[in-house]
Amino acid sequence: MKDCLFCKIIAGEIPSAKVYEDENVYAFRDINPMAPTHVLVVPKTHVASLADIGGVSDTVLAACLRACGAIAEQEGLKGGFRVASNCGPDACQSVQHLHFHVLGGKKLTEVMG
Ligand code: AMP
Ligand code: ZN
Repeated sequence: MKDCLFCKIIAGEIPSAKVYEDENVYAFRDINPMAPTHVLVVPKTHVASLADIGGVSDTVLAACLRACGAIAEQEGLKGGFRVASNCGPDACQSVQHLHFHVLGGKKLTEVMG
C-alpha cells in the first residue's frame, strides 16, 4: 500500500534489519527496541490491524504466529518471550500495518496495560 511504512520496508524501499522471511511474512528488528530481542512480524499483504483481518486468509494469520515462534527459537529465547499486537488508538498503535512484537532476552515486566 502506498505511503505505508511497513509496506515500504517489505518492498525494500526503506532499509530494515531482516530476521526472518517466508512467502507470507517478513520480520525485522524494531528500530526502538524495548528488550534485547525486539522483532516485528508483519504479513506481506497490507492490513491495518487485527480489527481488519476479515479479508486475510487463515494461512497468512497462522504464518504470522508460526513466525513468532520460529524467531523466538532462532533468537535463542529459551527463558520465554512475549508476543503483542497493538490495535487502534487505545493500544497506542503507531503504524497502521498489522504487526506482532516479539519481545524477549530479559525478564519482562508483569505490566501489560
Ligand atoms: P506500534 O506502536 O505497536 O504500532 O509499533 C510500531 C513499532 O514500529 C514501534 O515499536 C517502532 O519503534 C517501530 N518502527 C517504526 N519505524 C520503524 C522502522 N523504520 N524500522 C523498524 N521499526 C520501526
Ligand atoms: Zn502496509
